[in-house]
Amino acid sequence: GKPVCECNTCYAGPHCSVLLPGCIADADSGDPMFLEPFWLKHAASSTIMVPGWHRMNYEFNDGSLLSKQLESQIRTLHAVVGNAVTDGRYIVIGGGATQLLHAAVHSLSDANNRFSPARVVASTPYYPVYREQTEFFNSKDYKFEGDTSLYSNKSVSQGKFIELVTSPNNPDGKLKKAVLQGPSVKTIHDLAYYWPHYTPVPTPADEDLMIFTLSKLTGHGGSRFGWTIVKDEAVYQRILTYMSLITYGVPRETQLRVLKLLKVAIEEQGKEMFNFGEPTPAFAWLKCEREEDKDCNAVLHSMNITGRHGSLFGAESRYVRLSLVKSEDDFDWLLKRMKMLVSQEN
Ligand code: PMP
Repeated sequence: GKPVCECNTCYAGPHCSVLLPGCIADADSGDPMFLEPFWLKHAASSTIMVPGWHRMNYEFNDGSLLSKQLESQIRTLHAVVGNAVTDGRYIVIGGGATQLLHAAVHSLSDANNRFSPARVVASTPYYPVYREQTEFFNSKDYKFEGDTSLYSNKSVSQGKFIELVTSPNNPDGKLKKAVLQGPSVKTIHDLAYYWPHYTPVPTPADEDLMIFTLSKLTGHGGSRFGWTIVKDEAVYQRILTYMSLITYGVPRETQLRVLKLLKVAIEEQGKEMFNFGEPTPAFAWLKCEREEDKDCNAVLHSMNITGRHGSLFGAESRYVRLSLVKSEDDFDWLLKRMKMLVSQEN
């Protein structure tokens, strides 16, 4: 039978239909729970069983850390969706895009660079982890240097750059292209949201290094699974070395589960999961225009709406990111709260 779900925090009663009046609309987290109904519907076909004796070895029979079936399933997925070129490209899997982002920055920086560390840059507003991660690891090989707009193409000819490009962008949903160009610029394309449920997908992406994640594709953030598609063999080898020294691969249980989830996701060419024709950005990027509303998050907070502060994304405090990917109840409650806010302002 269907599992019994707990009521969302803003609802009560036997059918979870009673709205709790003072409840906070929490639009902070980017957990894509909007996909839960899809997985409830496909509960039987997406279930895996792992007996105690199964898949105990460190490695697969060929000595690799990546299941051959899973690798080919990932290639099939991109071919079906048409969002990335994988022919002749290498694939490395990791513990979510989070781990792969750092693996990529590490692998594109030059450990033998005698001069200066590579400058890691992104265009404002950018996903905060880029800065947080680079600063946290505090490497001598690379350093976070902020917004791409600080560097004219002239300065790009001096020193090495690693540009992080997020398309569609988190937080503002824009389709982005690399800003910096030149022989000393390497790019990392974070394509976490380049799927038909978030954006139109006009052409398959064909970049040097692309990162995708299961969390935004199927909603399984907690499985901690992502993959990188790389053109250059030397970069691929560096990422493999990184992965093998940091964790020695992704759990084989996870790989088994992901294989199953991807099979179900692309049934009928993914029509049901992607709900074709209705791409909606994962986030709303809101600006408070009124002169006195300098801290937009505080304005929302006074109306019981929790968003994520614009300053975290390198932007002004007049901006707030609101998550639209949580459950339908969360979304409805956010809309109600926003309507109350607008009617009060008027
Ligand atoms: N990149 C972007 C742009 C994201 O929004 C997120 C998740 N919020 C990640 C990477 C991290 O994804 P994962 O859950 O796979 O670590």
